[in-house]
Amino acid sequence: MKKVCLWLAIISAIVLFVTMGIVGVKILDNNYDFMVELYIAIPFYIILFGSIAGYKLIGIRCPHCGKIDDTLLGKSKFCPHCGKEL
Ligand SMILES: [Zn+2]
Repeated sequence: MKKVCLWLAIISAIVLFVTMGIVGVKILDNNYDFMVELYIAIPFYIILFGSIAGYKLIGIRCPHCGKIDDTLLGKSKFCPHCGKEL
């Protein structure tokens, strides 16, 4: 699940990069007709931030006991609940 979030973030970042590039080229070309690109970019922005948030949430969840560690936020290598390595 963590890898899925990472891939979603990477893919949406690439799509956003490409659409922003297209918009940039259109602006340089004095063509301000880029509403379609903006409508494509908005859901990918949501996916990007959603997957980053999901990635962080999964990152602080212990894979052994499933408890969420919200005090250490991934700073510790060991779970404070079961003591196993994260
Ligand atoms: Zn644990």
